[in-house]
Amino acid sequence: MKMSQLYLATLREVPAEAEIASHQLMLRAGLIHKVAMGIYSYMPLGWRTIKKIMEIIRQEMDAKGGQELCMPIVQPAELWQDSGRWWVYGQELMRMKDRHGRDFLLGPTHEEVITAHLKQDVRSYKQLPQMPYQIQTKFRDERRPRFGVIRSREFIMKDLYSFDRDEEGLDISYNKMYDAYTRVFSRCGLTCRPVAADTGAIGGEGSHEFMALSEIGESQILFCHHCDYAATDEIAAVDPVPTGVGEEMLPMEPVETPDCKTVEDLAKFLGTTTDRTVKTLCYKAIYENEEKFFVALIRGDRQVNEIKLQNVMGCLELRFAQDDEVREHGMEPGFCGPVGLAEDIEIIADREVPLMVNHECGDGRKDYHLINVNYQRGDYRISKVADIALVEKGAACPHCGQPLDTARGIEVGQIFKLHTKYSAKMGARYVDENGKEHDMVMGCYGIGVGRTMAAVIEQNHDEHGIIWPITVAPYEVSIVPVNDKDEWLMAKAEELYNQLLARRVEVVLDDRKERPGVKFNDADLLGFPLRVVMGKKCHETGIAEIKIRATGEVIEVALEDLVDKVLALREQMFAELTPAL
Ligand SMILES: [Zn+2]
Repeated sequence: MKMSQLYLATLREVPAEAEIASHQLMLRAGLIHKVAMGIYSYMPLGWRTIKKIMEIIRQEMDAKGGQELCMPIVQPAELWQDSGRWWVYGQELMRMKDRHGRDFLLGPTHEEVITAHLKQDVRSYKQLPQMPYQIQTKFRDERRPRFGVIRSREFIMKDLYSFDRDEEGLDISYNKMYDAYTRVFSRCGLTCRPVAADTGAIGGEGSHEFMALSEIGESQILFCHHCDYAATDEIAAVDPVPTGVGEEMLPMEPVETPDCKTVEDLAKFLGTTTDRTVKTLCYKAIYENEEKFFVALIRGDRQVNEIKLQNVMGCLELRFAQDDEVREHGMEPGFCGPVGLAEDIEIIADREVPLMVNHECGDGRKDYHLINVNYQRGDYRISKVADIALVEKGAACPHCGQPLDTARGIEVGQIFKLHTKYSAKMGARYVDENGKEHDMVMGCYGIGVGRTMAAVIEQNHDEHGIIWPITVAPYEVSIVPVNDKDEWLMAKAEELYNQLLARRVEVVLDDRKERPGVKFNDADLLGFPLRVVMGKKCHETGIAEIKIRATGEVIEVALEDLVDKVLALREQMFAELTPAL
């Protein structure tokens, strides 16, 4: 492609709405255009990268036995009513009606459709396992789309579904995908970490998220330097360490604690530590048709993990109760406690709370707390004990006891064991060799294609622009003749361009009538891995320069050796990103 004809949409200014490097660079380099909030077009340069990521995914899926198909974006509500998700998916599901008044939705995922197909097409164990997949557009009506294509409403996803006879088969399929995902992301040039993860709205047990490590990542990962433990903070768990154990239970009594509204105030006022207090947090659990007030109890120095708490309550969303709602339930905000709470209020306690001896907590009345409170003596009731604690840096690793470290990551892929969650509800069954019927055992496996592209840029850029790994670069090589008025030089550049094209190298020739500075700035911004600069030296000594975008290294090469050198460097770059089989 000649740069003069390339659909180029670069921007000089950084758009104000773009908070992170990848979003800024994708807009500045003209890879994407915003169409509406959370909805983007991929422009020609950006689409070339998307197509390469999709091709890497296809090769790795096919290598594990995947078979590509394409399912519709618009899906009938009936399928989602069969699985039960029509009602529980929440506001992210874009529901709509056709001209006949029938309910439809824009697919946020395709478990229902694919399960319906397998139900129709598979009768016998001889037809299993199956691994159909597609790479296709999805829609989730995110409340807060942000970070460009990292959290957009419309997005391109690869989704593969495995169907096996039994759990053993599922384990095999799951491990194949785990391996394929590791290969996909390393071929894209991403540094990724697989971590144990929450299964969320998809359901089922057993899941890993593939996290591209990045400071701007929305997910927090807890991991151990001493063993292979790694989990998202949504599911990371550590052993309970209750305080006061073994002490004699002392009489519970109220203490006047003026102006002690936080656990820190309280601990200081009482001359104790926050781990001897219990926090009482008032929430509203939001369900499809109702809101329910409840309280959560947790050791004073810990934080509640609201994803865990939401899972315990089985609700769609959580919010803190407002002051008037707290007062309606007989407590003063800032002084809440579990003692004497009305019977109809559900009390969820973190695992440490019922084991604590002589703890402090709110009294319910303004300016009063209770000391020496003991659940084990019956001072208050608990409806359910559950792990609702947020695991923080330094907590003991549940495998080996060493302190856990934290990192942030962008979730680029997730794999789930669904077991028979969908097949049982939707009747996707097969007959075994003895004529007996069984539910198919399923897994599902997603990769965010646009998000992978953004994560690659997050991990591979500098202040000048993008540094594409060669495997996903829109073009591999750019040729920059510095003086467009020099006809001999332009002819040499064109000759090289044609030679490289003939060798199937993806090359652009910057034939624009621009100053060299403009060409170099654009080359840095667009980030093609190899740049051949043909300047004065070409004329004088027959030497050109090859600049490697990633390292800044400049190699001087005689004109007649240019093609071979470019091919060799290109091959080496591909080899570095190709994992061994
Ligand atoms: Zn460990």
